[in-house]
Amino acid sequence: MTNNNPQTREWQALSNDHHLAPFSDFKQLKEKGPRIITSAKGVYLWDSEGNKILDGMAGLWCVAIGYGRDELADAASKQMRELPYYNLFFQTAHPPVLELAKAIADIAPEGMNHVFFTGSGSEGNDTMLRMVRHYWAIKGQPQKKVIISRKNGYHGSTVAGASLGGMTYMHEQGDLPIPGIVHIAQPYWFAEGGDMTPEEFGVWAANQLEEKILEIGVDNVGAFIAEPIQGAGGVIIPPDTYWPRIKEILAKYDILFVADEVICGFGRTGEWFGSDFYDLKPDMMTIAKGLTSGYIPMGGLIVRDEVVAVLNEGGDFNHGFTYSGHPVAAAVALENIRIMRDEKIIDRVHEETAPYLQSRLRELSDHPLVGEVRGVGLLGAIELVQDKATRKRYEGRGVGMICRTFCFENGLIMRAVGDTMIIAPPLVITKAEIDELVTKARKCLDLTLSALQA
Ligand SMILES: *Cc1c(COP(=O)(O)O)cnc(C)c1O
Repeated sequence: MTNNNPQTREWQALSNDHHLAPFSDFKQLKEKGPRIITSAKGVYLWDSEGNKILDGMAGLWCVAIGYGRDELADAASKQMRELPYYNLFFQTAHPPVLELAKAIADIAPEGMNHVFFTGSGSEGNDTMLRMVRHYWAIKGQPQKKVIISRKNGYHGSTVAGASLGGMTYMHEQGDLPIPGIVHIAQPYWFAEGGDMTPEEFGVWAANQLEEKILEIGVDNVGAFIAEPIQGAGGVIIPPDTYWPRIKEILAKYDILFVADEVICGFGRTGEWFGSDFYDLKPDMMTIAKGLTSGYIPMGGLIVRDEVVAVLNEGGDFNHGFTYSGHPVAAAVALENIRIMRDEKIIDRVHEETAPYLQSRLRELSDHPLVGEVRGVGLLGAIELVQDKATRKRYEGRGVGMICRTFCFENGLIMRAVGDTMIIAPPLVITKAEIDELVTKARKCLDLTLSALQA
């Protein structure tokens, strides 16, 4: 990394001396120093060295409408002057949260008209866990507690979120998962499909849900939670047979279904929600990220009317956050949704940029390092392999990390999940910017291949 700006070193020293960064190796970060991002506009970031970087990840999947939209800053500023804070506890409310709840109900799948707000996606899933158990207790079935989740799913980093998630490297720290959460196989054909066709594997993976329900006993299972498309796990697009089979199983057993829409929600698939894309009928949907385009923290849980009808009979729900439905966050989210609607951003993803990105990305399939290119909407994954036919990896070479470093150095942010390169650019990315993304990605694949051969 070039280091021409003396201020970069000052900031890195501050990091070294005082900051503990999330999902980082503290010691390694001290040695290398973080890259300092100082400004952003549209789909581009600038670092403190003046490098312009195409953000192929929309931050952490969240900057849906792109960076630098003054309307969101203005909405926040206006709300801060009018009512910077008030809570929603003890039978109070304020206009922005009520207007936002209505705006979300308007775009949510039919019959999902109520929202419980939180400060993040993790808190949304913590809320979900407590609400699911509360729901069954009200119905006189307090033993229906177990939540079934999936290996390599991501549901956040709080104790419940990390437990619901299926990341073993997270479970290893802090004695997780907590009791009452179990995991089934993920529909990740490329890595785990073996000799099955994707269609066969999709049915097999879905059947794991039924087997788990029967093993635990349906009387003990409260809910199944899943991302429509696993994001942090590596943009895992389930085989076409997966969701239809899951839906059959859910129809057969009396358990709740929670769609974690934190990534898929707010347009990522070219529909408002991933549940629209796959025609799922969830009872609850966790939201965050695109809700505010990341400009300010906010999450929530959208709840189906029938579930709310039961909760209405349960007295106090003894759960809430100081910042639940924060007025400034609500004002920003409202403006974000208004922009998405008025500028028809999701229509454009659906009709124009998603098909274009998907076809351009697939051109990379001919690259010797690439075992598969897959994607939906503005989500994409590129599998890096040693042998295309057998899907064999370069064991122990850290190929994904090598590629990610080349990307950074060449002005592109792509994330590496093991040896899977993933992208999720802002929804406002243009065709010309997609061309730039794909050109840079190919260059970095070439550089990675040369590095492996050297
Ligand atoms: C990011 C994410 C979360 C957690 O959201 P935070 O706001 O980081 O707490 C939960 N679920 C999914 C699918 C996510 O991608």
